[in-house]
Amino acid sequence: AKNAGRNTQRFYDPTMQAALEARAALETDLRLAIKKNQFRLYYQMQVDHSGNVHGAEALIRWQHPQKGLVPPLQFIPLTEETGLIIPIGHWVMETACAQIKRWESDPATRDLQVAVNVSACQFHDSSFVERVIEMLSRHKIKPGNLKLELTESLVLDNVEEAIMKMQALKSYGVLFSMDDFGTGFSSLSYLTKLPLDQLKIDQSFIRNMCMNNRDAVVVQTIIGMANNLGIEVIAEGVESETQREFLEQNKCNLCQGYLFSQPLPVDAFENKLRQMHTY
Ligand code: C2E
Ligand code: CA
Ligand code: CA
Ligand code: CA
Repeated sequence: AKNAGRNTQRFYDPTMQAALEARAALETDLRLAIKKNQFRLYYQMQVDHSGNVHGAEALIRWQHPQKGLVPPLQFIPLTEETGLIIPIGHWVMETACAQIKRWESDPATRDLQVAVNVSACQFHDSSFVERVIEMLSRHKIKPGNLKLELTESLVLDNVEEAIMKMQALKSYGVLFSMDDFGTGFSSLSYLTKLPLDQLKIDQSFIRNMCMNNRDAVVVQTIIGMANNLGIEVIAEGVESETQREFLEQNKCNLCQGYLFSQPLPVDAFENKLRQMHTY
């Protein structure tokens, strides 16, 4: 009865009605966006403490004809609810693989590891492993140049499935990073079971670690654990030199954040790399 009451009320609530209409409009727009090729991949560099660029994270944007550049948090959640993330995820992976191939012919970009965000629906799809392998072989890229970013919750949905799928791709040489690490409130026991290459410390810890001792301790603990497990560790959301120094002192391998660069379109990313690269 409680539920029925709530449902009935929905139709008489003008705010809710407007929200539903906005959502439906966004969904229609997103279907069109796929057809019209309105998505873009931006790349944000990942650097070590000597300033060498090791890789880049591919981050999607929507080039909307009226709204301009729409950030992913404004549309990715809806694409996950509607299943549109499957075709969009394919586009992301396809575009990233094509980019890796192009970068392989230039010494400045040849060894870049390109990290791609994988959403839960995409990963749980029964043809996920097959699709990734198909793309790797069609584009003829070095599998070690592709890194898949997974979240803890995605893995914990079904740990056995995650292990199987990761191992299958791992045997081809694909790399894995655990994104937003530390935010999942999850048991650490899965860490030893998963074939992970990298832990990515969530930016919420990085943001406050130089002001808040508890965040500092969490960051130090994650870095220490990764180092002891022999897994690479990267900090995201690094915005200040103070933060970078703290991370260097505590032996965090890599940094990503506005201190080095914003996510950039391919051309701007390549220009920035050339500026940094001394030939
Ligand atoms: P994420 O994977 O945690 O990505 C990091 C976010 O932090 C990015 O936001 C990036 O632009 C932002 N960022 C980078 N450096 C800094 C910094 O120094 N300070 C601050 N405050 N932020 C920084 P963005 O690009 O808006 O992406 C947001 C989220 O959308 C991503 O979070 C990811 O969960 C999702 N996303 C982005 N691209 C894709 C994609 O291709 N597929 C899927 N499934 N999700 C994606
Ligand atoms: Ca990510
Ligand atoms: Ca992240
Ligand atoms: Ca995040």
